Amino acid sequence: MSNGGNPNILVVEDEEHLAAGLKLNLSLEGFEVTLAGNGRDAMAAFLQPEPFAAVVVDVMLPDTDGYALCQRLRSSGNFVPVIMLTARSSAVDRVRGLDAGADDYLGKPFEFEELVARLKSLLRRQSWQGESRERSSTLNFGAAAIDFETHRVTVSGESHNLTHLEFELLRYFAENQGRVVSREELLEKVWKLRHFPNTRTVDNFISRLRKVFETDPKHPRHFLSHRGTGYRFEPNPS
Ligand code: CA
Repeated sequence: MSNGGNPNILVVEDEEHLAAGLKLNLSLEGFEVTLAGNGRDAMAAFLQPEPFAAVVVDVMLPDTDGYALCQRLRSSGNFVPVIMLTARSSAVDRVRGLDAGADDYLGKPFEFEELVARLKSLLRRQSWQGESRERSSTLNFGAAAIDFETHRVTVSGESHNLTHLEFELLRYFAENQGRVVSREELLEKVWKLRHFPNTRTVDNFISRLRKVFETDPKHPRHFLSHRGTGYRFEPNPS
């Protein structure tokens, strides 16, 4: 397991050649690597005292799939950065992975260099978020109270469970309050999509946020549409 304080990465992958290749390449980059060949071993690995810095998980596993594993992690309150490896590269599968709580995805086959680069970027973002957390870890608007650290969301004292993507969308709006953001910007920054197959996805998520947070979702006061441009989050409508 971990020694010398190097970040420990959990790799959940049942293809032995690929798992060995990942272990070698990540070790060369200075990471400690723990391997798990199925979902059960992966969940057991999380019981070790030292937390993982990040998880690389394959979608297709013998006893479960990467989506379910990721959802289990998130619902147990573990928000370790997750990169999902998927043989499927359609936008629907990527969105499904991100909605299950993955932070990034990589389609197979991939270059080790790209995985390492994505991993490092994720770890940088994580430490940056850790630093900025103290400044803005809570948000209150209308009857809603959001704690970005614990992911606790209450509206009029009633708690709501948001999916990972709903939560990240809310976070992005909170960080950009009062500014009109385009659907393309949201797909790029929140969904991490570089190509935009269908911007309707964004509209569906906005509807979901409105149902949770707006007193009258048909006449929103906080999550406002700007025709032809995008959306604007207004925490304090006049
Ligand atoms: Ca597999």
